[in-house]
Amino acid sequence: MKALAKGLALTFRTFFRRPVTEEYPDVKRPLPPRFRGRPVLLAREDGRPRCVACGLCEKVCPSSCIAVEPGTGPGGTRTLARYELDLGRCSFCGLCVEACPVEAIAMGDRYELAVEDRRELLYGTDRLLSPPEGDNGSHGKEDRNR
Ligand code: SF4
Ligand code: SF4
Repeated sequence: MKALAKGLALTFRTFFRRPVTEEYPDVKRPLPPRFRGRPVLLAREDGRPRCVACGLCEKVCPSSCIAVEPGTGPGGTRTLARYELDLGRCSFCGLCVEACPVEAIAMGDRYELAVEDRRELLYGTDRLLSPPEGDNGSHGKEDRNR
């Protein structure tokens, strides 16, 4: 009897509360500032990737989902020939961002990443460079203490 009364009291209390259901995907909750969505490559002013192909993110990635291939630019400078990220293996840990010495990679805000074919989760330099549609911005190392 006591349990029944307790249960009814709880029902009565919650009956008058406002519903907490979010009408996703029509209504999306604001993301916390340090939310880690899919990684993005950052570009210089001229549109070229900031990445210097040092390979540190590739080494530090616990999921081994990054492949970096250096190339040779004008005057023998080291450039980025290929950057590939397999999002199907990424755990969104952010270690690649922490490891990058030139702040060339950041965590974006995009989280609706479902696809029908895993091959679509292979992101090359072009797709990683362009901010994803609906992205609210990206955040790198400078934001980690927020
Ligand atoms: S967020 Fe983590 S798992 Fe994903 S690419 Fe970066 S280091 Fe790898
Ligand atoms: S750590 Fe930074 S500069 Fe080095 S390969 Fe990765 S993204 Fe490029």
